[in-house]
Amino acid sequence: MNVPFMRPQLGEEEIAEVVDTLRSGWLTTGPKVNRFETEFAKAVNAPFAIAVNSCTAALHLAVEALGLRRRQAVLVPTMTFAATSEVVLYNDAIPVLVDCDPVTGNMDLDDARRKMELLWSGKLDFLGGREIDVVGIMPVHVGGLMLDLDKVNDLASEFGLWVVEDAAHAFPSAWRKNPQDEWRMCGENTSDVTCFSFYANKTITTGEGGMAVTHNEILAEKIRLMSLHGLSRDAWQRYSESGSWDYRIVAPGFKYNLTDIAAAIGIHQLAAGFEMRERREDIADAYTAAFKGLDEIELPSTDGDHLHSWHLYPLRLRLEKLSITRNDFIEQLKKNGIGCSVHWRPLHLHPFYSERCRWPASHFPNANYLWERIVSLPLFPSMTTEEINRVVSVVRDLCRAHTKASLSLVA
Ligand SMILES: *Cc1c(COP(=O)(O)O)cnc(C)c1O
Repeated sequence: MNVPFMRPQLGEEEIAEVVDTLRSGWLTTGPKVNRFETEFAKAVNAPFAIAVNSCTAALHLAVEALGLRRRQAVLVPTMTFAATSEVVLYNDAIPVLVDCDPVTGNMDLDDARRKMELLWSGKLDFLGGREIDVVGIMPVHVGGLMLDLDKVNDLASEFGLWVVEDAAHAFPSAWRKNPQDEWRMCGENTSDVTCFSFYANKTITTGEGGMAVTHNEILAEKIRLMSLHGLSRDAWQRYSESGSWDYRIVAPGFKYNLTDIAAAIGIHQLAAGFEMRERREDIADAYTAAFKGLDEIELPSTDGDHLHSWHLYPLRLRLEKLSITRNDFIEQLKKNGIGCSVHWRPLHLHPFYSERCRWPASHFPNANYLWERIVSLPLFPSMTTEEINRVVSVVRDLCRAHTKASLSLVA
């Protein structure tokens, strides 16, 4: 039996809504996008949500709206996807890569502080000199396990940084400081902008799509303006009865608007979002219970103060207890028909960052350590019991077949 890494869960509602959109004659940004934005904002307790055609676009518009420019720098985790860092480079600014926590994979805020000190003391001169001004921080909630945003915001206010959250994995995620506190949704915090992804394999999908969420009306207006060519009115208003034909270009914007076809899918994905999260949590719990006795692997952690979106279930291999490498482990999973992935090869181990930016790998001991050990297992709401059991038995068999434990007993 083959188990894919991911299978999107799309129902009849999504299909009917797309058909309705196609029949309506209005395909691009219009009433469905409007509804999707309103309902998404409500779901994350935020006043403003701007739908765009990817999370990457949302991140780009966020840093653009915050005025990021040349010779400025932004703290970005090395343990992330290409998008988080590339939007900094789009604006001719400099990503300052930060190591991760060795357990959660989330940005290590102590290292963020250390990297700023290194920058100021001239020890990161390969980035272009010490007059570089660090203006922002872009934490990623890896797999949907949220960072402590109070700590992020403390660091940000201490150094006068803006905060853009890469929340590509974090709908719906929430956290609280103490068990007696209210849950705080990802998007409900004091960050400047929170960016979500609706890519095909994310927790909810529109095929391709994203959302920029903010509590700041000025940022919301800037992001909306720049998401559609810098036009003073968006196309929906332009072509609706109340709108005017006479738009004005007020800035050189981008073409990042979401279509109504995509939003039609999004409306129903959003409605199912909390239920799908619960299903993923059940599957994650089933994995955790089944793998508990295995010494060869460490399991993703969470606690009572996190509502984990469970976008990912990343195992960490205990290489000292296994006779095979992570790559061999993945090879074996694939041979057994189990789809898997790695999140991620850290940015500093990619040619662009190591060769062009010349970041030494020695700056990121935790990410280097994790990178050799992580494997993300299949985790999606429509997984059947048979599929879950299949993943469990293949992982168990691999650990047994390649353990070093029996060897040492014999010796
Ligand atoms: C998927 C992903 C993105 C990009 O999302 P798109 O919607 O494909 O642009 C950004 N950051 C992280 C952490 C991601 O996993």
